[in-house]
Amino acid sequence: MDKSQARGESTTGVSEWKQRPPYLVHEKNDDFDVKYEANCHCGKVKYQLSRREPLDSKLCHCTTCQTQHAAPFQWAAIFHKTDINFTNGHHDLEWYDPTDKSIEHKLPCKVRCSYCHSPIMDEGRNMILLFPSLVHLKTDEDKAMFKPRCHMFYGQRVMNIPDGLPKWSGLSDSSDLIEDSPPEKVKQLERKREEEREKRLKEENNE
Ligand SMILES: [Zn+2]
Ligand SMILES: [Zn+2]
Repeated sequence: MDKSQARGESTTGVSEWKQRPPYLVHEKNDDFDVKYEANCHCGKVKYQLSRREPLDSKLCHCTTCQTQHAAPFQWAAIFHKTDINFTNGHHDLEWYDPTDKSIEHKLPCKVRCSYCHSPIMDEGRNMILLFPSLVHLKTDEDKAMFKPRCHMFYGQRVMNIPDGLPKWSGLSDSSDLIEDSPPEKVKQLERKREEEREKRLKEENNE
């Protein structure tokens, strides 16, 4: 099947993906509130962002990111699919689904520029993970907004980053905090898990 014939969880029909976020192109009078501009290395793919502060910003050390980005780890900022507006080249994108090793448009998938192959984003089912290296961050405040807030899959790291940020052994919030994670965060997590355990026990006893 041709890769332009979108298929998968939430895409049906030929090129239907072009009509919905994150690929929906806004008209000039849509009052899309532009906070940032971004582009791939060759400049064929250009986009804007309407949200100033990412929902989250993380460094991922998983081996898939290492291979896909040819780097020791990946830096991604999380946005809603409606926060992005492609102003150029959104038809010049190609997809890769690392789970099925497929180039069809199935979620979640990696999205790249089809010309220079710069990674543009990871498209999830509900969110997009953008690569801040493509975003023009002009002021120190902008840079602070995108500053990584945690490390994930730190258990798979190729190097130590002793920066005092929380470090999840696997997926953030659903694995363990390891290495030099802030001790108060570790205690907080232990307390939270203990509370959840007690709640579960109570529920089981009530059944
Ligand atoms: Zn490009
Ligand atoms: Zn990863």
